Amino acid sequence: MALTLTRSGALRLRAEKLFPGGVNSPVRAFRAVGGEPPFVVRGEGAYLWDADGNRYIDYFGSWGPMILGHAFPPVVEAIKKAAANSASFGASTQAEGDLAELVTGAYPSIEKLRFVSSGTEATMSAVRLARAFTNRKYIVKFEGCYHGHADGLLVKAGSGVATFGIPGSAGVPEEVAHFTLALPFNDIVAVEAAFENHPGQIACIIVEPIVGNAGCIPPAPSYLQALRTLTAQHGALLIFDEVMTGFRVAFGGAQELYGIRPDLTTLGKIVGGGLPVGAFGGRAEIMDQLAPLGPVYQAGTLSGNPLAMAAGIATVGYLRDHRAEVYAKLEKLSATVADGVASAAASAGIPLTTNRVGAMWTWFFTAGPVTNYEQAAQSDTKRFAAFHRAMLNAGVWLPPSQFEAAFTSTAHTDADIQQTVDAARQAFAAMSKES
Ligand SMILES: *Cc1c(COP(=O)(O)O)cnc(C)c1O
Repeated sequence: MALTLTRSGALRLRAEKLFPGGVNSPVRAFRAVGGEPPFVVRGEGAYLWDADGNRYIDYFGSWGPMILGHAFPPVVEAIKKAAANSASFGASTQAEGDLAELVTGAYPSIEKLRFVSSGTEATMSAVRLARAFTNRKYIVKFEGCYHGHADGLLVKAGSGVATFGIPGSAGVPEEVAHFTLALPFNDIVAVEAAFENHPGQIACIIVEPIVGNAGCIPPAPSYLQALRTLTAQHGALLIFDEVMTGFRVAFGGAQELYGIRPDLTTLGKIVGGGLPVGAFGGRAEIMDQLAPLGPVYQAGTLSGNPLAMAAGIATVGYLRDHRAEVYAKLEKLSATVADGVASAAASAGIPLTTNRVGAMWTWFFTAGPVTNYEQAAQSDTKRFAAFHRAMLNAGVWLPPSQFEAAFTSTAHTDADIQQTVDAARQAFAAMSKES
């Protein structure tokens, strides 16, 4: 067989010499699904094109941000305009206030906020702030939730940590992990027990209100309300990590959808319209503990970067102004593709559990149900990998891990959805023949 290297293949060989695993973020390497990760040269609307000229329907949307599709003209224009005035000042600008007002308008629980450059920074800073505000050391998180890669949050984490089956990260001292209590999601008794066993010691509960980083796992009815009640009772803060769910499941995120008011909220992904932005915010009396007003230090050379603010304003402003039609369209597209693939699997006799909230969902290759990480981990990841490869070959790019959520954008069309469901039907037919 002649060894003809694709352009993506050649780029990968070079990248593997330059970057650990060939990538700048682990799950991009396709280790969990096998096959050749395409190198992307361009995106437009719902499509990506790789270095070999192949087109893909994109269902990972840069892992969340691209809710309006790639190269959405108002976002492109806003970035160009901002860039012409210089990429960065390290001084305050009007744009920061403009994006902040869009955020506080969407999230009434956020009285004051601070912009950072990633979700990781947002969650790390929110936890530091919660510890300072309560003068307590312990934090509660949930198995399979991912809150960025700060030391204390890499305990039983989701996303790439779950994908590669890493129990906790090397390089995190036991003494640091000791203060992180990782509990099963959707189990309120476990939370009650944690408060009983650590009286007056738990600073905060940080939670993905709809888990996305173990695959999509919705909260059980009244679970989030119970977290709100328990934290208030015990003087701990409730942090909603809405880096993924914010502006995705509703304009006002999961807190709008379920009617819960957390003390602190972290945002990222969509809020930056594809540029590196995160934010954390909440009650003013807590936020005012930050320097220069208070004793909690947190800073960033590029925080509130003008290009990033411009992309965020264009994206979030569009979502606000077209709110009703955007979220109705996302719901319809997502329901059609999620249910269409689910019934194709059922016809082929392949056990599949579909969890979905709005424009965020996961097809778990297990009979289910999937209500926590332990159940998600029952999925047949080999089957998922085969499905992923078949779909990619058919021009459909799904997130390359069983433990990640898929997304639609407003740029997806009914024809894209139909092509996706047809591709899934063929993939399942081939898979059921093999087994
Ligand atoms: C993506 C994500 C993060 C981390 O954000 P980065 O910008 O990748 O650092 C944190 N929390 C949740 C819920 C996320 O989905």
